[in-house]
Amino acid sequence: MTTLIRADRLIDGTGSAVVENAVLVIEEGKVVGVYPSQAPDSVVSPDAEILDFPGCTIMPGMIDTHVHLNMPGDGTLLETVVREPEGVLVATSAFTAQRALAAGITTVRDLGASGTTVINLQRALELGHGVGPRILSCGQPITITGGHTWYFGGEADGIDGLRLKVRQMAKIGANFIKVMGSGGGTVNTLSWRPAYNREEMRALADEAHALDRKIAVHCLCADSIDYAIDAGVDQIEHAGFITDSKGNQKYVPEVAEKLGKSGIPVTSTLAVGGSVVEIMTAKKDRTPTEDAFLERWIRMLDDNLSQFRKLRDAGVSFVAGTDAGWRFTPFEGLPLELELMHRGGMTTMEAIVSGTGFAAKVIGIDDKVGTLTKGLAADVIVVGGNPLDNLGALRDLKLVIQGGKVRSRAQ
Ligand SMILES: [Zn+2]
Repeated sequence: MTTLIRADRLIDGTGSAVVENAVLVIEEGKVVGVYPSQAPDSVVSPDAEILDFPGCTIMPGMIDTHVHLNMPGDGTLLETVVREPEGVLVATSAFTAQRALAAGITTVRDLGASGTTVINLQRALELGHGVGPRILSCGQPITITGGHTWYFGGEADGIDGLRLKVRQMAKIGANFIKVMGSGGGTVNTLSWRPAYNREEMRALADEAHALDRKIAVHCLCADSIDYAIDAGVDQIEHAGFITDSKGNQKYVPEVAEKLGKSGIPVTSTLAVGGSVVEIMTAKKDRTPTEDAFLERWIRMLDDNLSQFRKLRDAGVSFVAGTDAGWRFTPFEGLPLELELMHRGGMTTMEAIVSGTGFAAKVIGIDDKVGTLTKGLAADVIVVGGNPLDNLGALRDLKLVIQGGKVRSRAQ
């Protein structure tokens, strides 16, 4: 069965020039080719299905490299979420995963969940029992005793304890390893202090690499970034420069330069602040407490955007990831993330690549998805208008195809 999708233009996710009046040919769940104007007869069978989308743009399915499927993303705190039994968290994860797919996000990477909940969901979807995005999972995020998100079950300490925990995550089926390199938004954790020391971080990275897993590290303070760079990790989440319990940040140019030189990509997660600001700004009759909350988040988002600019100037490359599920961050939030990355100085094309081809490369699946390249899985979306003119077009989905199967189509 051959499917042809025709639209005004196609963005292939590699950063290459747009193909005008494009035809995308799909066969047996894979991309056959991209052609301007007309596909050659040799690749099109006479009974091919033709899907026409005038005025629209064809793109690869989007990839969110940082989500938490256990959490609903409606403001529910982590401390509340983890009171539910694991069965509820699996069901919640199936629901949030479907929301992502319906928004054109055909792959998500889960950066921390309770027990084996997301690994179990991932397995069920691989068996074909349900519909959802492709999932990559770390299992439980590894954290110091009492550290950020410890409720998920990932506590481990000391060199031997950390190596054991990495092996346990690999044993239960984790695709990669996630480590909490500093505290975070969990009660009583210190986001302005590194959690593991240099030697511990090195042991974590070595063990992950020995088991052929990538390692991503949550870092909200400068020292944690520094330790993660020295350990040779594969990805840094957030890259914050928090200095105190109030969340004040102080950019450290030397660490930024070192990070830029290391080539380690950083996950942006700007949508965390962006979604709070969007939702609270729209709320009518805010209480004085809510006003103060909004003011604090506007300041934090501004801080994060200014650091995003400075880090890019220092040579750091950013990959798109929203932290969906955390606080008010929605599972449909990748377009918002890309809009914020654009506001932080990326071109619209750079933002799109960071959420498609570059995202796939960073998480190690660019031989399967991420670009509309011959032989890759046909994870494809069609959006109204031209996202290169206005990234808001990514919110106007006309078609979602995953592995060649139509998952949703606008009437
Ligand atoms: Zn996160």
